[in-house]
Amino acid sequence: MSTEKLPCSIVVTARYLLQNAREPIVRDAAAAIKDTRILALGKASDILREYAPETRLDMGESLLMPGLINGHTHASMSLLRGVADDLPLLIWLTEHIFPREKKLDPESIGLGAALACAEMTRFGVTAFADMYLAENAVFDAAASSGLRMLGGEGIFAFPSPGYNTEDEAFTLLREQVDRWKDHPRIRVAVMPHAVYTTTPDLLARCRDTADALGLSLHIHLAETRHETDECRKNHCKTPLRYCADLGLVTSRTTIAHGVVFDDEELDLLAASGACVVHCPRSNMKLASGVARVPAMLAKGIPVGLGTDGAASSNNLNMFQEMAAAALLHKVHNEDPTVVAARDAIAMATIHGARALHWPGLGELRRGGPADVIAVDMTPPNMRPVHSPTSNIVYAATGAEVRLTMVDGEILYKDGEYTRMDIEALYAKAQQAADRLR
Ligand SMILES: [Zn+2]
Repeated sequence: MSTEKLPCSIVVTARYLLQNAREPIVRDAAAAIKDTRILALGKASDILREYAPETRLDMGESLLMPGLINGHTHASMSLLRGVADDLPLLIWLTEHIFPREKKLDPESIGLGAALACAEMTRFGVTAFADMYLAENAVFDAAASSGLRMLGGEGIFAFPSPGYNTEDEAFTLLREQVDRWKDHPRIRVAVMPHAVYTTTPDLLARCRDTADALGLSLHIHLAETRHETDECRKNHCKTPLRYCADLGLVTSRTTIAHGVVFDDEELDLLAASGACVVHCPRSNMKLASGVARVPAMLAKGIPVGLGTDGAASSNNLNMFQEMAAAALLHKVHNEDPTVVAARDAIAMATIHGARALHWPGLGELRRGGPADVIAVDMTPPNMRPVHSPTSNIVYAATGAEVRLTMVDGEILYKDGEYTRMDIEALYAKAQQAADRLR
């Protein structure tokens, strides 16, 4: 038997390894990575015996785990963080957000997105779904950040900064699909904004375009009781039934929020194979209501987690989102057993991969993409380590992330960004934010 070691790009070692939300923690672990893929995972002693890496990365007392997936956000809204809080949704939107969004240009949209990518990278997000206006600038920011992104131009029944007519909106969408079709980290989806900002014809066109181009479809749906009441008034149906009757609810569909569903609707959702992205902190802050997450999970509906935009939630921290999901449903259901720590991690990883319709993400496995983060278990809030998963969900702040890697490429390590001039970005983002006052 030959004793020659196999070559690989990187071996990362760490005290703990969580391959996916369901498997036991491996101690004294390592991941061998070749180019963009994971070659092997397991005990560090075994991996180092078998592989000869070009680079060795010892993350010490850290936990290696799959990168977190932010299943729903509006990255560019980072520029609007903190402009208005503690207001009713309609006043918040019409008096504070919409007037500022009118002032946004591609440059400021790109800067907001770049700031969001910096934040997500710093806090262990490796992939995100994004819907916004003039999305081209967001695609560019994401591509230069190195993060994975499923993006879509927000499609409305009225002009937006990206287009003047519906025809132009679909031309723009097709251009985006063409432009990014060979990019390994960027994908495009059809993203009608919501039921209340579109028409039945426009939604049908979104459905047909998604079918024709083989794209997934991502929509805000059933976010508030008000939306459901209005939809009943205008279309005599709940938002989900209205979309289902238009053929919009399929296994390629992701529903952002999904707060207001009755029992039959949960059955309809489960049968459709559609995914939901739960945004607990946005729902709490805007007082939208409480999604029926334990019931959805019990029915096998994939439920990812999303931060929504930083104007509402007010950061893009998936550690806070995991904690919020775990805590909210416990108090709401008066049942401390629902949304356990491992469920919250599953929502932020493997369910997120489903919500982005991106197989292979959300877990670390042989042959899978090397989207890995390392979370430091040495700060006082992370000690002692009885259960790494408990510490990740209930004790971590997110600042414990020491390493963020996508496709085997280090994007952030111990305070340093590899692709970003972070101080220059902060200065430009502040100038752009000042112009929105
Ligand atoms: Zn949203």
